[in-house]
Amino acid sequence: MAQPQSLDFIKKLVAFDTTSRESNLELIAFIQDTLSGLGVDSTLVHNQEGTKANLYATLGDRDKPGIMLSGHTDVVPVDGQAWDTDPFQAAEKDGKLWGRGTADMKSFIAIVLALAPEFLERGLKTPIHLAFSYDEEVGCIGVRRLIDKLKDMPVKPAMCIVGEPTSMQVVTGHKGKRSYAANVRGLEAHSALAPQGVNAIEYAAELIAHLKGMARRIEAEGPYDELYEVTHSTVHTGVISGGVQLNIVPKACRFEFELRTLAIDDPKALEREIRDFVADTLEPRMHAVSPEAGIDIECFNDMPGLETDPGEDVVTFVKALAGRNDHAKVAFGTEAGLFQTRADIPTVVCGPGDIAQAHKANEFITLEQIAKGEDFMRRLMDEVC
Ligand SMILES: [Zn+2]
Repeated sequence: MAQPQSLDFIKKLVAFDTTSRESNLELIAFIQDTLSGLGVDSTLVHNQEGTKANLYATLGDRDKPGIMLSGHTDVVPVDGQAWDTDPFQAAEKDGKLWGRGTADMKSFIAIVLALAPEFLERGLKTPIHLAFSYDEEVGCIGVRRLIDKLKDMPVKPAMCIVGEPTSMQVVTGHKGKRSYAANVRGLEAHSALAPQGVNAIEYAAELIAHLKGMARRIEAEGPYDELYEVTHSTVHTGVISGGVQLNIVPKACRFEFELRTLAIDDPKALEREIRDFVADTLEPRMHAVSPEAGIDIECFNDMPGLETDPGEDVVTFVKALAGRNDHAKVAFGTEAGLFQTRADIPTVVCGPGDIAQAHKANEFITLEQIAKGEDFMRRLMDEVC
């Protein structure tokens, strides 16, 4: 059975509207106060504007490596979604707790806070570090500042568990993702004189068709990883805009595309392939009409993938806590890849709730999942206390 203390903390955390565009400072102050009531100091790492913060705190001896529990405090917007309940007032009904962030991922943080007094009473031989971030939902932005600090600490956490909703499955991998914007600069002309202009939309279309060709090749030839639902890397275009009027050769077109890559695929090599096609094939033709025409490609977000060897200690350890022998890989990205690649901390993802309920109207977590999350945390307590 889910404990009342956990439910209480979930309700309190959900009540802070921490949609990524809002400040998370009130929620962070609440967590800081809660911990300081237990005699635990927190370190805050703010964003540049000082409107949001990561919180880092340690239960036990902060000079020992220990185990880091990580979660993000922000949630996705509820705009335009039809909710049957107030998304920021978690309501219990039919064995479920409904509200924005109940699954993704305030319940994990709430369970940690609910059980923190017990960890401390029992005394920790191995410390538990808490890392709670902001701006995860907009490209894992916030945690990067925390990782910059962690990297240089004399003693780093020995392992990390990211409590994103996996229904308590032990997740050892997710794909990496790079997001790009392509700006095509053409040359305007009357469409009756089309060959005297450089049609930005048409060059964008050629590049998008090339990206689609790459996607087809990867799908047909691999490499593959059967643990993923989509077993290969993907290339996808998601946004495009350009042109003013049909009788004008358009001078500008902008589109966004992304690479989602398996660990075995090198995103830099795929990016090089794209840039080579632009430089060797498209731009010479554009320059023949106008030397100023061209295509700029900018990577505006880079989320490294997670690929933890199933033989690593962290995997064995977390499997024991979760009471299972299997592991999985998931389609969604998390901060785990950053902890692993940027801070060199062995990391897995394992937390209560189902990702299928995340980001949607009427998001919920079952009380059963909350109880499973508590069981997990109690087994962790038995290990570290
Ligand atoms: Zn999440």
